[in-house]
Amino acid sequence: MFSSRSTVACARIQVRAASPVVAAARNFSSSAPRNKQRLVILGSGWGGYEVLRGVDKKRWNVTVVSPTNAFNFTPLLAGCAVGTLEFRCAVEPVRRYSPQVVAYQAWCDAIDFKQKTLQCMPATPPLAYETSSAPRVPTTTTETHFPGTGTPFKLRYDKLVIAVGAYSQTFNVPGVKEHAHFLKDVRDARAIRTRILECFEQANQPFLSDVDRRNLLNFCIVGGGPTGVEFAAELHDLLHAEVERHYPSLARMAKITLYDVAPNILGSFDKSLGSYAENKFRRDGISIKTRHHVERVEKDRMFVKEQGEVPFGLLVWSTGLAPNPLIQSIDSLEKHEKTQGLFTDEQLNVLTNDGKPDPDVWAIGDSAIIKSAVLPATAQVANQKGKYLVKKLNKIVKDQEHTKPFEFHNQGSLAYLGDWKAIYDRSGAESIKTKESGRLAWLLWRSAYFTQTLSIRNKILVPTYWFVLSFFVRAQGSFNNLSPLQVPELYVLLLLRRARRF
Ligand SMILES: Cc1cc2nc3c(=O)[nH]c(=O)nc-3n(C[C@H](O)[C@H](O)[C@H](O)COP(=O)(O)OP(=O)(O)OC[C@H]3O[C@@H](n4cnc5c(N)ncnc54)[C@H](O)[C@@H]3O)c2cc1C
Repeated sequence: MFSSRSTVACARIQVRAASPVVAAARNFSSSAPRNKQRLVILGSGWGGYEVLRGVDKKRWNVTVVSPTNAFNFTPLLAGCAVGTLEFRCAVEPVRRYSPQVVAYQAWCDAIDFKQKTLQCMPATPPLAYETSSAPRVPTTTTETHFPGTGTPFKLRYDKLVIAVGAYSQTFNVPGVKEHAHFLKDVRDARAIRTRILECFEQANQPFLSDVDRRNLLNFCIVGGGPTGVEFAAELHDLLHAEVERHYPSLARMAKITLYDVAPNILGSFDKSLGSYAENKFRRDGISIKTRHHVERVEKDRMFVKEQGEVPFGLLVWSTGLAPNPLIQSIDSLEKHEKTQGLFTDEQLNVLTNDGKPDPDVWAIGDSAIIKSAVLPATAQVANQKGKYLVKKLNKIVKDQEHTKPFEFHNQGSLAYLGDWKAIYDRSGAESIKTKESGRLAWLLWRSAYFTQTLSIRNKILVPTYWFVLSFFVRAQGSFNNLSPLQVPELYVLLLLRRARRF
């Protein structure tokens, strides 16, 4: 089942493909030395960015094509959305690797595997002489602006890494795309944070009835997977810390409800950990409505089959993944019937329709599935596949063999539950099977993200924010102005600049 958003985006591809401008697309070749092979990476997410980071840029002529010019550290987005962390903590710029790497802020709309060319479309505003505009990068992933064609261009590749991820699933529920918030990248986190604050300021107006206030402060989350659960937990932390302090009378009216069609939340976790989470949420006053079906969403209200009309101030929608339109447009490769993910072999090469691997094209991350072993669509898998490809590409470029198949090492799954508590599930791992809940799991959760944050800057900033939050306030006060939280941050940045390492 595809989201209506995907359908719109797919239509965008077809419109462009038919456009005469596309036929006249410019051919670009990179300025790097001729003797280097061209490696093109599509996407700057968990898979693509890892390849970009590790690949030997002296030996490969590397080009990155991505509509966003930064990598989003998705596990920190829920925290950013409520002000636990600042947005900059969850992003790493692609430009860090230029000029060694050529980067285009653009969509790849079509791939010609025979000619080894990519058709791309700028994801930047139109230039003065362009009569029709290129699709802008939307302010949030919820928005879809496809106002026509800009100036498309073509790129050639010798080797190609497809790492374009997936879109948010809506199950075609009417109104979701228009009235709900997704949480896919930092633009979404920013929009959610703005809306939360707006809800409290609106509810604080003197002329409102208590019913209106309660409606505005009804925060609904649809999707009881790790993303929905972590957002509910972070929001709960916010409501019971700063909000209670700054809006004491409104805090009592605020309510968080988590909806899911399944009988339990956190279905991918061990059952006992799922029950631990449900019990904790109930104790915290977070309402869990499982076996509930949202049928329609309108501005400020949704219609739930089992409940009727539910007014809300904020609706966050997180019900899984829908295929990326680029992947949907590919018909010459084998795909998973249900998810439409590109099938690969164990070397991560895509498979043509006759089942043969394409030796020059690899697919990783949420848009790819190993045919012989379906793995979960997680950052962990995307990142490990990226690391594997780095090794392979760095051997290939030296004419060395690399035939070792990809092996996934399950590090376990983590989910934050609020109040410094988390769950950790490693019961599905091959070795050291374990599961934890509570404070110890929370420590694991924090240390996992601390060790994974990529740049030195973020390795310093993330724990600094966490530390300061434990003693002072989160970055809610201003959302615009300099908050007390930013003072130590500025201090750290100053030190870094002085040390000329930044
Ligand atoms: C809020 C949130 C929290 C999460 N927490 C965790 C967690 O704690 N642990 C975990 O393991 N997983 C987590 N995940 C899942 C994880 O983020 C994904 O599995 C992971 O991002 C997949 O990596 P990817 O490289 O395939 O795709 P992405 O990281 O989504 O990157 C896709 C990239 O492709 C680009 N792109 C899209 N279309 C095109 C196109 N046509 N042309 C060129 N570029 C394109 C995008 O702009 C983006 O840069 C979380 C996800 C979310 C949303």
